[in-house]
Amino acid sequence: MDSKGTLEHAERMLPQVPTTVPRPLSDRIIASITLMDLSAPMAVLVIALLTFFSWVAAYFLGGGTNVAPHWFYVPVFLAGVRFGPFGALLTAVISTFVAGPLLPADVATHTPQAMSDWVSRGIFFVVIGQFVTQLFRGARRMSVREIHLQAEVALGTTELQAREARFSALVENSSDLVTIVDRDGLILFQSPSVARVMGWDADGTEGTNFVDALHDFDQERWRTIVGLLMEESDHEMVAEWPVRHADGSWRFLQSVITNLVSEPSVGGLVLNSRDVSDQKALEDQLRHQAFHDQLTGLANRALFAENLDQALRRQSRTGTELAVLFIDLDEFKTVNDVHGHMLGDELLKQAAERLRATLRDADVIARIGGDEFAALFEGIALGHDASAAAERVIESFAQPFIIESSEVIVTASMGLALNETGTESAEDLIRNADLAMYAAKTANKGRYEVFSTDMHSTILDRMKMERDLRQALVQSEFEAYYQPIVTLPSETIVGAEALIRWNHPVRGLVMPDEFIGVAESSGIIVQIGAWILHHACKEFEVLTRGVAGGQSLGLSVNLSTRQLSDPLLLGTVRDALTRSGLDASRLTLELTESAIMEDVANTFRVLSELRSSGVKIAIDDFGTGYSSLSLLCEIPVDTIKIDRSFVTDVATRPEPGRLIRAIQSLAGDFGLCTVAEGVEDLDQLEAITGLGCEAVQGFYFARPQPASKLAELLERDASFSVSVT
Ligand code: C2E
Ligand code: MG
Ligand code: MG
Repeated sequence: MDSKGTLEHAERMLPQVPTTVPRPLSDRIIASITLMDLSAPMAVLVIALLTFFSWVAAYFLGGGTNVAPHWFYVPVFLAGVRFGPFGALLTAVISTFVAGPLLPADVATHTPQAMSDWVSRGIFFVVIGQFVTQLFRGARRMSVREIHLQAEVALGTTELQAREARFSALVENSSDLVTIVDRDGLILFQSPSVARVMGWDADGTEGTNFVDALHDFDQERWRTIVGLLMEESDHEMVAEWPVRHADGSWRFLQSVITNLVSEPSVGGLVLNSRDVSDQKALEDQLRHQAFHDQLTGLANRALFAENLDQALRRQSRTGTELAVLFIDLDEFKTVNDVHGHMLGDELLKQAAERLRATLRDADVIARIGGDEFAALFEGIALGHDASAAAERVIESFAQPFIIESSEVIVTASMGLALNETGTESAEDLIRNADLAMYAAKTANKGRYEVFSTDMHSTILDRMKMERDLRQALVQSEFEAYYQPIVTLPSETIVGAEALIRWNHPVRGLVMPDEFIGVAESSGIIVQIGAWILHHACKEFEVLTRGVAGGQSLGLSVNLSTRQLSDPLLLGTVRDALTRSGLDASRLTLELTESAIMEDVANTFRVLSELRSSGVKIAIDDFGTGYSSLSLLCEIPVDTIKIDRSFVTDVATRPEPGRLIRAIQSLAGDFGLCTVAEGVEDLDQLEAITGLGCEAVQGFYFARPQPASKLAELLERDASFSVSVT
């Protein structure tokens, strides 16, 4: 039965409370004696008749003339009662003048004759009449009060019965439990609903102990509550606790416990309990959702910070040491981009599992960002144990993840912050661990760094620059400068290299060496690289369109290592060419030797794809990467750009010349072009020309300059022969 049905059922069981009370018999008797129920004319007629008969009766029944006048009082008296003084007077007059003439003369002589008689008798009757009237009224009032009292008692009794019936109906049918226990928890009364709620046998509970159904720790709580309640009667307390169901499971009850020990009709503690298990489960679920990461089931940032906060408080009391490990997955974004979000999520789940398996149960592990995790180590020998834990994590991440039956290697960069000074806040520790992680990532991925205070400013600067770089992309603060590439020996411009510049709103023009490193370590280089590709292709195409022979000029754009592992690189390059209308054969992508060597297999594949789309490849800064020459020969490239360091001393020392010659011969063997970088003066140019380089680039001819300046340069010398300045 639902609760509504239960209540209706209970209502039907209640006796109906009467709304009107029947008039008692005593009231009716008084009313008839006092002629109260008669209308006034009828009452006068009755009184007159009564008077007449009383005179006659008095005369013939032997009272004689002496007695008869005394009967005269009866009707007058009655009239006084019924109508008050005037009624009595009127009756006296009527009875005298109506009855008087009908009576024998001797009787009539005894009726009042003189005016004074009338007055004195009148006054007498009025007084008597009034007195009796008041008497009757008083009696009547008393009787009415009594009647009301009785009615009230009757009503009260009925209501009481009704209330009792309602109470027991409610207790029996309510889903709440009413339990009366003594101070030790012994059940004195148990409402039948316990069978439905707790599965207990309702009749068998009396004499058993309620406290036995509680958890051990709640039994202690029970004693505390009872102790507090006993200090004051009528006092009540609320407790929420799990209580054991007959089937062995736990139901969550919310009990209002009232001390009615001194109430004779109860004589115990009354527990009014409600089953709040569903509510509790929902609350728990909501709380869990609010403090846990849905994907991995780990704690979230809020819960981690909360746990760390508590641990720090404990530490200030007990002196136990703690450390925070900040874990960031390397190249997670790439996995996400290449394999899609579903697999990215799968990787995060597996990473979380690995952390759980590697770290201790007592360590709090949380996912605090997209691919960021954190662990809290408490009660460890600082430094040593925390570092050992970080190393274990590195080891566990060395194994490839199996995602959809393919192996994916994802390393983790980590930062460890130890609570050495004891003054760090939760926020400080997380930030320090984050900074240390950042340092690890910048230095070399897949490792950990322990936070030290000197990291602070350097890393904060880098972080600020990262933010600024993102902002710069949005605010279009980047610009492409172009440095002409000149062919030898004709000294004709054959193309230009696009070199990025940052027009910083505060710092002014910022050179690439100052920000490319940060852009690479943070990954923003992928977006910046895409921007310069699109921008330079478009600008250069427009710029050379109006110049005679401009369509044969080539454009070089630098690529960073990070871009080589960007799965969208090929698409970006093709897109830039399509949108700008620049012919693929005019574009050369420059990669440093070290970038090529980082992941040879991948580079080989990417460069092959790029070349097959018609783009040329140049090895930049050649000679600085100590790479294996045989390996280099296998890489699909078109041009070698000889590093400036060889050119600087070429005119003054023999050694650089020898090396350039060797590079020249190697390039010749593989059919590659050579470009000498950094030619600053005529001596260097002559030396380089003598060594057989096909092209040069350097301040001697032109510095990198904005597009408009390059356009002027190209227009000034339509034949592309540049005058030496
Ligand atoms: P890089 O690709 O080797 O570019 C040549 C650098 O040498 C340029 O420096 C250029 O200004 C400088 N240079 C050219 N001729 C001379 C010379 O005669 N004397 C001296 N002292 N320097 C000369 P810049 O523009 O500062 O660029 C530095 C590096 O930054 C570039 O070296 C390149 O590796 C990187 N870079 C520049 N723009 C980009 C870009 O758009 N993307 C990427 N990934 N890297 C870029
Ligand atoms: Mg370059
Ligand atoms: Mg270079």
